[in-house]
Amino acid sequence: MISDIYRVRFAPSPTGYLHVGGLRTALYNYLFAKKNNGKFVLRIEDTDRNRLVEGAEEKLIDSLNWSGLTFDEGPGKEGEFGPYRQSERLDIYKKYSDQLIAQGDAYYCFCTHERLQTLREEQQKQKLPQAKYDKHCLHLSKDEVAKNLADGKSYVVRLNVKPGLPVVFDDAVKNRVEFTTEVIDDQVLIKGDGFPTYHLANVVDDHLMKITHVIRGEEWLTSTPKHVLLYNALGWELPVFAHLPLLLNPDKSKLSKRQGDVAVEDYRDKGYLKKALINFVALLGWGPQDNQEILAIDDLIERFSLDRVNSSGAVFNVDKLNWLNEQHLKLTDKNELLDLLKLELADSEYKDVNLTDTKLLMIIESMLERITFVKDIITGSSYFFEAPKEYDETVIQKQWKENSADLLKQLKAEYEKINDPVKEDYEKSLRTVAEKNEVGAGKIIHPLRLAVSGVGGGPGVFDITNIIGKEETIKRIEAAIEKIKPAN
Ligand code: GLU
Repeated sequence: MISDIYRVRFAPSPTGYLHVGGLRTALYNYLFAKKNNGKFVLRIEDTDRNRLVEGAEEKLIDSLNWSGLTFDEGPGKEGEFGPYRQSERLDIYKKYSDQLIAQGDAYYCFCTHERLQTLREEQQKQKLPQAKYDKHCLHLSKDEVAKNLADGKSYVVRLNVKPGLPVVFDDAVKNRVEFTTEVIDDQVLIKGDGFPTYHLANVVDDHLMKITHVIRGEEWLTSTPKHVLLYNALGWELPVFAHLPLLLNPDKSKLSKRQGDVAVEDYRDKGYLKKALINFVALLGWGPQDNQEILAIDDLIERFSLDRVNSSGAVFNVDKLNWLNEQHLKLTDKNELLDLLKLELADSEYKDVNLTDTKLLMIIESMLERITFVKDIITGSSYFFEAPKEYDETVIQKQWKENSADLLKQLKAEYEKINDPVKEDYEKSLRTVAEKNEVGAGKIIHPLRLAVSGVGGGPGVFDITNIIGKEETIKRIEAAIEKIKPAN
């Protein structure tokens, strides 16, 4: 047994940001750990020195923290299996590489770039299905190897893959996976710069960190046979593998930057709630037995299991994400929404508008059914924060008649009579005016809406008047009477 508790890891390479696919992998690992009282480890796979990006690790950890996927062990949270940054574990990889060489399962390769290039070109000419190293250096004598090393010749270490053998492993998502060593190249394990490749470092660390379940994206499935060969050569127990389905664009191509945002921080900056993004990402390739769609993190933990992960690709549908954001907004505590709205306001042209919390809460209440993001309250209903600067022409055409100004004048007079009106009073007065003039209430409601908001849609007009208050309503009616001329 690898460990008496389940241990899983998220093992990103710090290449700049947290990809939504990475968030999905991290989330499934997290859910699996929490569901099973296991441990969730973060390991930074930074052995590809060419792809290193300054500050990428911090950004990644920031995004993970924002998402709420806190790890139990990882950089800055050292447990008994650290260090958790691969660049700090080079001597460990060297030790196992030496062991593999001594066993004959790996060998030094001194081939130059030129030789490898020529070899590849020849193989391409022969139309071989796949370019593979020809094991030239496997046949060097001990003395030749010793001399090359003594001469300081640069080298890599390669896995010695024995041809003609089956490589079979079980995958919790893909079921039984079968390869043959015929299609596996003598993979480089230690590179010319002395750093291990992903394959060696990943296997060594998963073993030493007692990882019981390797849950990762499907793009790593073709690497797994190499890993299995390494586990076998080192005499180590295989973890359970679970390869998660690819994320696809709506046109079924692989999810790419070209068709939309792929960085978690982009979604955060656009105003998605983390619980909506987490809910959405959870449903990319997995679904609960009860088909519930709106799920908070605790619901996800309760329901998660690897056997309900789909094996076919999952389409990334932003409309669904928007819908989930709307649903989660409705479920969010009003005071939390208040804080979010204040943040958005502070960042907007209305940062100096002074509204009480009670007013802001009323605005939120009136808009909640109509918004996808909290900031839609500001962009979609600026009339709560300032008087309309202009009036929608098409609404004028349709709703502003010869008698509109007169009806509003009468309405204004009614409003002036009431002290501290409540929402119902605004409506009652309007109905009184309508009756007196023998017109339908709509004949006044629409002009009133135009006067107070400048537009034709939005929350109930009496919600608006009630929120902006008597003085402001009267002022806006006066301004509209003066500025709006009926269409001919
Ligand atoms: N470093 C790999 C990545 O960037 C990890 C793959 C794995 O989980 O084994 O995704």
